[in-house]
Amino acid sequence: MEEQGKVFPFSNQASSVLDVLRHEMESIGVKVIVEAETKGIKRNNRGFQITLKGGEAISADKVIIATGGKAAPNLGTTGSGYLLAQTFGHSLVEPFPALVQLKLNYPYLKQIKGIKFDGDAEIIVGNKTMARARGEILFTEYGISGPPIFQVSRSASEWIKKGKQVWLKVVIINHLSREEIISYTNKRFKDNPGKTVSFSFVGFINKQLIPVFLKQAGIADLNKRVSELSSAEKDGIISLLQDWRFEVEGTNTWSAAQTTAGGIDVKDIDPRTMQSKLVEGLYFGGEVMDIDGDCGGYNLQWAWSSGYLAGISAAKSAN
Ligand SMILES: Cc1cc2nc3c(=O)[nH]c(=O)nc-3n(C[C@H](O)[C@H](O)[C@H](O)COP(=O)(O)OP(=O)(O)OC[C@H]3O[C@@H](n4cnc5c(N)ncnc54)[C@H](O)[C@@H]3O)c2cc1C
Repeated sequence: MEEQGKVFPFSNQASSVLDVLRHEMESIGVKVIVEAETKGIKRNNRGFQITLKGGEAISADKVIIATGGKAAPNLGTTGSGYLLAQTFGHSLVEPFPALVQLKLNYPYLKQIKGIKFDGDAEIIVGNKTMARARGEILFTEYGISGPPIFQVSRSASEWIKKGKQVWLKVVIINHLSREEIISYTNKRFKDNPGKTVSFSFVGFINKQLIPVFLKQAGIADLNKRVSELSSAEKDGIISLLQDWRFEVEGTNTWSAAQTTAGGIDVKDIDPRTMQSKLVEGLYFGGEVMDIDGDCGGYNLQWAWSSGYLAGISAAKSAN
């Protein structure tokens, strides 16, 4: 067990989880067919007929659609499950990438790419905070990444889709209050009045970030002595340490996303069994449905819990 209650196998290998699931299937006699893409599912009077990519057909009493969403399509998750469900009349809530990096409209990304720091990330729309998360943040060539960015990405997407201008507020010094920052920076400036403003931030914030940070704070001459800084310039610097805003252009693509927001509308799925309310014998499990969770294992837990419920319900009703 790790911090925040996260549980991992001692081996620290994801394949261990897969191995035990496979072992359980073998021990209860589940027949597994791999490399078999489902192209179509039809209802008939005995149950369902499933057509595979090569044309082969399989008969089934019950069907569980657990084809995932659209995130990480290199793993086979291309959204084909949506089409399968839609042929039965299920509606789709438009999917969009979630738990994903953000693209920023900022001219100096090339200079700051690769810089990591522990900070806070907030999504701001019309001066209101819509989502907030804390942790390691990383600037990239196209924008920004890291666990807190993943966490707030869904909110950013939603507001962009609604046509709003979305800002990412980054707090690069999140362990001190504004008053503490004022007294700390004033002491640094007072103790070394002859230092350049640029050098006075060495050791306080990431060195590579200093030139872009100071430019953004309105300091045109980075070699200016700290004793020459005006009160307005000092205020600008102090404010930026706790409120640096970037315009969010959008998210990274499906290939980079960890999960899918949107999916098959749950209004037509019975939450007690995961059975379709439209077609008897058809069930759903996991990310294919319009349910997504925060970082922290919630998406896997949803896939396992809903898959378990769908499996148990389908087997029970087959008896
Ligand atoms: C890089 C990455 C990191 C992640 N990290 C975490 C994490 O730390 N914690 C967490 O909770 N979640 C995490 N997730 C999300 C989590 O893995 C998914 O939410 C979860 O695996 C969804 O499970 P699922 O069974 O619904 O779908 P999937 O695991 O996506 O499985 C669906 C399967 O169906 C197959 N398939 C699709 N269409 C067809 C078809 N037509 N015919 C036959 N087969 C088909 C696909 O090939 C795939 O094998 C991560 C995802 C990614 C990509």
